[in-house]
Order: sequence, then structure tokens, then C-alpha cells
Amino acid sequence: MKTADIFKTKTVFSLEIFPPKPDADESVIYNTLDQLTDISPDFISVTYGAGGGKNGAKTIQIASDIKNKYHVESIAHMPCINLTKDQAASILDNMVAHGIENVLALRGDIPEGTVSPGDFTHADDLITFIQDNYDLNILAACYPEVHPESMGAVDDLKWLRHKVDCGADHLISQLFLDNEYFFSFLEKARIAGINVPIEAGIMPVTNKKQIERMVKMCGVELPKKFIRVLERYEDNDIALRDAGIAYAVDQITDLIAEGVDGIHLYTMNNPYIAHKIYDAVQNLVAAKANAC
Ligand code: FAD
Repeated sequence: MKTADIFKTKTVFSLEIFPPKPDADESVIYNTLDQLTDISPDFISVTYGAGGGKNGAKTIQIASDIKNKYHVESIAHMPCINLTKDQAASILDNMVAHGIENVLALRGDIPEGTVSPGDFTHADDLITFIQDNYDLNILAACYPEVHPESMGAVDDLKWLRHKVDCGADHLISQLFLDNEYFFSFLEKARIAGINVPIEAGIMPVTNKKQIERMVKMCGVELPKKFIRVLERYEDNDIALRDAGIAYAVDQITDLIAEGVDGIHLYTMNNPYIAHKIYDAVQNLVAAKANAC
């Protein structure tokens, strides 16, 4: 099923996982999936390391297993930086051969001081390539707090609209910790004529290292309320984990009350946390679905 169609009937609740490292025990990800699929998410997306590394094959295999063995819809991420058109075609052919119907078309992060030697400069190039050559449902990324390399909010929205015009029919947002950024972005996106479903990306922040990495990589602002939680519980792992779960539940409750299209939970491959959050919000998702 193409994920864009799911939004026609309900508030979507989806999950994101990452594949195991090349030398890791493969069974762990399947144990994780055994537990995550208990939630009956609308779909699960699988990340893909930029540069077309070896783990890409794992992304495709896992996305295929989610769909064909667990019978949950799946999305394979695909960053295009460094890829030639032939390499991209080979990855996409492999996805199609594995029965995958949904691809999140991404540029990927460019290592500082380097230039991509490949045929794709931005995600829109890959979106156009897929649209011209494959019958796949195409997704793209969006940034409520503006992409860190962008010249500004207006420019970022212009290119987002362009990705949709090129063929993206479902957007998933970067994580954010202050819902006001998402609401403001959503309003501007609709005014800019972006009418496809936009899912809110929520990452339950449950340890200090993760927060530091997130702020560095994504340029996400830490709201005062969040900093207070962090300062109070930073030396107590269990309390910080529970406070992170409570914070994410609070964010999701507010987002659903405002009528968002869907929630995309960055699970960090942690079924305990995903379950806790889903248990707290499942009736809210269902209530919205009934109201529609
Ligand atoms: P683009 O859409 O190309 O945008 C990048 C920047 O260029 C923006 O500032 C934009 O405004 C600007 N821009 C866009 N198009 C043009 C144009 N035609 N001309 C000039 N400027 C333009 N990375 C991975 O490596 N693997 C993953 O699995 C992965 N999953 C992700 C999932 C989600 C939901 C999100 C939000 C991000 C994910 N990323 C992943 C990270 C992503 O690759 C980076 O954020 C990357 O820096 C930008 O990717 P993009 O597809 O948004 O790029």
C-alpha cells in the first residue's frame, strides 16, 4: 500500500528504525521488530546510511521483511548523495524486486568540505528520477526549524514545494521539541500550496548523549521546559528516560489535539519506549480517527 493513501482514513501513527551495524547480531533487529509490530503501526520506515554503503542492502531486506513477513507497510529511506544514476537505479530495482512500494527520497548529509561526486545534488533530483522511472510512492523530508544549511525559512519552503511538485506525496518532519515550530511551519507550508500529508517527527529524548548529538546534527532548539527536565534528571538514567517519555507523550497529545496528519516516532530501536508512548496515546489516535 502506498503510505499517502493511509492518511485518507485516519491519524497515522508510524515508527522509524535503523538497521544493525555490519558486524552486529542480526537477530536483535528482528526481536525489536517482534515487539514493535505488536503496536500495529501504520508503517515502519528503515533508515539508510548516506553514500550507498554496505548497510543499504540491510535496509532493503529489513523493509521487505516488515512488509512481507510482519505484514506491516514499510518505507525504505534512500539518500542519493554520491550515487550515480546507475547506482541509484540498481538500489531502486532491488527495492522493487523486494516488493517495497514506498521510498523516502533524501539527499543525505554531505561531509564537511567535500562535494558530491555523484549525479544527484539535492533530494529533488532523486525524486524526479524515481518519478520518471518507477511506480513507487515517494516521500521527502521537511524541517520545522529550517534545514541547517538553508538560506532561510522562505528558501527552505520554496525547495520543499519544489520536492512536492517533482513527485513527493507524503512528508515526514525532522524531530522538534517545541510544537510551536511545527504549527508555524505547517501553516506556512499550507499557504505555500503544499497540500500533501505532513507527519510530525517525534524523538523521545531519553539520555544526555543523545541530546548533545541531536542538537549538534539537527540544529534543534531545546525549549526551557525541556532544559529544566534535563537539569533535574541528568544524573538519573531511569528518571531521565521516564521524563523523556512523558515529554514526548505531552508533545503528541498537543499535536493530535491540533489535528496533525500523523505522528512519526523515531524509536531508536527501543521497543520499551515505543510501547510506553503508544500505550499513552493510542486512544487519542483512535478518537481522532473516529471523529473523521
Ligand atoms: P534536500 O531536500 O536536498 O535539502 C537540503 C538543503 O538544500 C536544504 O537547505 C534545502 O532548502 C536546500 N535545497 C533543496 N533543494 C534545493 C535545490 N534544488 N537547489 C538549491 N537548494 C536546495 N539521512 C541519511 O543519510 N539516511 C537516512 O535514512 C535519513 N533519514 C532521514 C529521515 C527524516 C525524516 C529526515 C528529516 C532526515 C533524514 N536524514 C537521513 C537526514 C537528511 O539526509 C539530511 O537532513 C540532509 O542534510 C538533507 O536531506 P534532504 O533530503 O532534506 O535534502
